[in-house]
Amino acid sequence: MSLSKRDSPFANSGMVVTVEPQDTEPFQKEHGVLAGIAFQKSLETAAKEAGGGGQTAPAQRLTDFMKARESADLPDTSYHPGLNPARIDELLPEWMVRRMHKGLEIFGKRMHGYITSDANMVGFETRTSSPVRIPRDPETLQHPEIKGLYPCGEGAGFAGGIVSAALDGIRCAEASATIPAG
Ligand SMILES: Cc1cc2nc3c(=O)[nH]c(=O)nc-3n(C[C@H](O)[C@H](O)[C@H](O)COP(=O)(O)OP(=O)(O)OC[C@H]3O[C@@H](n4cnc5c(N)ncnc54)[C@H](O)[C@@H]3O)c2cc1C
Repeated sequence: MSLSKRDSPFANSGMVVTVEPQDTEPFQKEHGVLAGIAFQKSLETAAKEAGGGGQTAPAQRLTDFMKARESADLPDTSYHPGLNPARIDELLPEWMVRRMHKGLEIFGKRMHGYITSDANMVGFETRTSSPVRIPRDPETLQHPEIKGLYPCGEGAGFAGGIVSAALDGIRCAEASATIPAG
């Protein structure tokens, strides 16, 4: 997000990390196919507690996140409810922190100055894509049992973002126009 004048000192950018089905294994015994939702909820609850309640969010300086250390204080933020210093690197599962470190190291190599103590790692945006997927036939794009139903886009678990949702929408529209239902 950047204001049209592009004069904001803040880049409200999100870092998206892939969560594979096997990553939700600790939740599968109790929650079955809804393990992803249970995992999502566990992160949201942890963030709420680490934020100190209300809408205050937990945050850590990017350099401290990379070095696995406490942030004594935090730089300015555009997040109006405010931030509370917290160990984001400990709130997140180890595998997720590892993936984020890898990505951030690449960003840091490609964009000089990206890894800075002036950046806040704020937790968590957990709703970039759906943690459940409605089954669909890969050829017809129809639901395997309900003919004429085309599970499509983010809610059905086939997209995570504006462009991928739009593309999936086009695919389903074309499929519904060319492949007869049933
Ligand atoms: C706060 C936020 C910020 C985001 N920022 C970005 C970003 O910067 N870049 C990016 O790529 N993506 C971003 N996304 C994700 C992006 O918005 C979604 O991936 C995308 O909109 C999904 O498109 P969709 O058509 O699959 O679903 P949606 O856009 O969710 O559309 C589903 C539609 O179905 C309607 N609907 C629901 N139930 C019913 C019903 N029973 N009957 C009739 N209609 C119904 C809803 O009202 C809605 O209009 C963001 C999402 C959020 C929430």
